[in-house]
Amino acid sequence: MRIELEKLQGGKGGFAHVYQPDELNPVDERVNLSQAAEVSGSLRRTGDGVFVTGHIETRAQLECDRCLKPIELPVSADFALEYITGADYESSSVAALSEEELSVSVFDGDSIDVDEIVKEQILLAVPSRTLCREDCKGICPECGIDLNTGQCNCAAEEVDPRWAALQSFKNTDNPNTE
Ligand SMILES: [Zn+2]
Ligand SMILES: [Zn+2]
Repeated sequence: MRIELEKLQGGKGGFAHVYQPDELNPVDERVNLSQAAEVSGSLRRTGDGVFVTGHIETRAQLECDRCLKPIELPVSADFALEYITGADYESSSVAALSEEELSVSVFDGDSIDVDEIVKEQILLAVPSRTLCREDCKGICPECGIDLNTGQCNCAAEEVDPRWAALQSFKNTDNPNTE
């Protein structure tokens, strides 16, 4: 959905849209929507630029970083963004680029792409690391078994049996060396 600034009555307006997951998926290579995204907000012209505020409500699906199991997370995000034209951006002096202005985006001066805003905000809202649970054991790199639900002997087989014997000898015969 694009909003043409020309069509804003009195320099301001509102928008609301329900995105079906298909309209935005994939949000990026690790994030997909598992539910429709409800988006609403308003725009206000500021000279050549525009100020956009709004809210997004949806559910995102990611994979566990260790075991790749799908994880669903609720997304509820407020946003406030300022857009200025490329010309305005270049004319603003370096000294004027305060921290506040780092959230300023450049646009073509004609329209605002709401799809892009929604995707960006969803990516900002989801954590950069996701685990299905804090102590997820992951998958065995050797045989691919999910170590949360099963066990394999890959790790055990890597231990040289002679070394294992030495270890148990040490443990049983030297109770004083802790
Ligand atoms: Zn996991
Ligand atoms: Zn294994």
